[in-house]
Amino acid sequence: MHDKTLTQLAASLKSGEFSSRELTAHFLQKIEKADSKLNSFITVTGEQALKQAEAADNARAAGETGILTGIPLALKDIFCTRDVKTSCGSRMLDNFIAPYDATVVEKLNAAGTISLGKTNMDEFAMGSSNENSHYGPVKNPWDLTAVPGGSSGGSAAAVAAGLVPAAMGTDTGGSIRQPAAFCGITGLKPTYGRVSRYGMIAYASSLDQAGPMARSAEDCAHLMNVIAGHDVRDSTSVARGVPDYTDTLNAPLSGLKIGLPKEYFGDGLDPDVESAVREAVKVYESLGATVREVSLPHTHYAIPAYYVIAPAEASSNLSRFDGVRFGHRCKDPVDLIDLYKRSRAEGFGEEVKRRILIGTHTLSEGFFDAYYTKAQKVRRLIRQDFLDAFEDVDVLMGPASPTPAFDLGAKKDPVSMYLQDIYTIAVNLAGIPGISVPAGLAGGRPVGLQILGTHFAEAQLLNVAHQYQQATDWHLQLPAFAEEYA
Ligand code: GLN
Repeated sequence: MHDKTLTQLAASLKSGEFSSRELTAHFLQKIEKADSKLNSFITVTGEQALKQAEAADNARAAGETGILTGIPLALKDIFCTRDVKTSCGSRMLDNFIAPYDATVVEKLNAAGTISLGKTNMDEFAMGSSNENSHYGPVKNPWDLTAVPGGSSGGSAAAVAAGLVPAAMGTDTGGSIRQPAAFCGITGLKPTYGRVSRYGMIAYASSLDQAGPMARSAEDCAHLMNVIAGHDVRDSTSVARGVPDYTDTLNAPLSGLKIGLPKEYFGDGLDPDVESAVREAVKVYESLGATVREVSLPHTHYAIPAYYVIAPAEASSNLSRFDGVRFGHRCKDPVDLIDLYKRSRAEGFGEEVKRRILIGTHTLSEGFFDAYYTKAQKVRRLIRQDFLDAFEDVDVLMGPASPTPAFDLGAKKDPVSMYLQDIYTIAVNLAGIPGISVPAGLAGGRPVGLQILGTHFAEAQLLNVAHQYQQATDWHLQLPAFAEEYA
């Protein structure tokens, strides 16, 4: 069962090959056996999952089913889940039991899916390697000495290892696409506003977006059908019709115009990653696409602009964690200021503190215009680069990350970690959608091909990714780890 895609498992549930209870028990057993090696889950909700599975089986027996009824999933621990710990990878929220479900969770529950638990992540989604989690790093199932990427590293590792068929992630600057690339799975970051952020613990509110991480583009399409759409509880979600994302998966690609941004193939790109990506582009040519070089001239400003805007929003969002209303509270405070100071000093990790400091600084009087206002202007230029490119081509392609997964502990200074996101971050600043699909191996570690489209082009991205997956089998390859614990 571990090697089947979500789409195949849904078909097997429908035909009665096995029940949701059997399927759920199978994955719970695998988590039990294998996750001490990976550390991909923070919380496993086995009992609740088996109850949900029984309800799904009953619903199926009564004929009240959707396509995903009875499918087990995992949720990044950034989504609020009623009565279940929601830690966001932080000591600050180690004791937080959410009183309500995020909209994404509500929708997945209503579709009859089963949650197996909450996956490990970088604290407050800040990181590119999952080494910033209060619960310890996650290991990459392709190589246990490598990072799984971040911040949705637990979701990516769990799917790649076959511990769960699909999982939810969030992407503020690459946190779905980069871990998907590092772990050899498919991950879609939707257009900003396509999926509700209600109940998703906020990191940088103008950039955060939830999306599916699964084995194939087809699996992601099924999940998008459930989670996309307007939500009155998130004023930045967009009131726009949601297509059936599976309808257009098989549209032919003849005539598709692909742009290769020259800035995505420059210095710092690992040669093996580059050749895997160029091979993938050749597959598209054989499917009838045409390829040309394009330019996104402001690419090199994306990381500096992001590291002003994201910490600014984070410093504001994280001010609510004050030891009074949520989360960790220090012992025996002498007064209110002591309570604030020690609760925050003890509750937050290094990287989160660094970003709060940066954000507070750039928002302070005298620096606001020089940093924050300037970064917003740069953001506008970056967005315009993409819109200009999409005048000439349908989609953009390039690597999701400049290198394959690096070793645990390899990146010690924050700036070299920040540079990891060179190909993903501009996408969030522009608000456009992007998908990473497995496109080969470099030194035994997966390579992700990133495909970008204009605002609300998710259906097109899924179609373009699916056609590649019909012509190749990189997405079906599993790490030896998954076989060992099958
Ligand atoms: N690596 C980036 C950061 O640390 C992006 C993280 C994300 O997308 N959540 O902010």
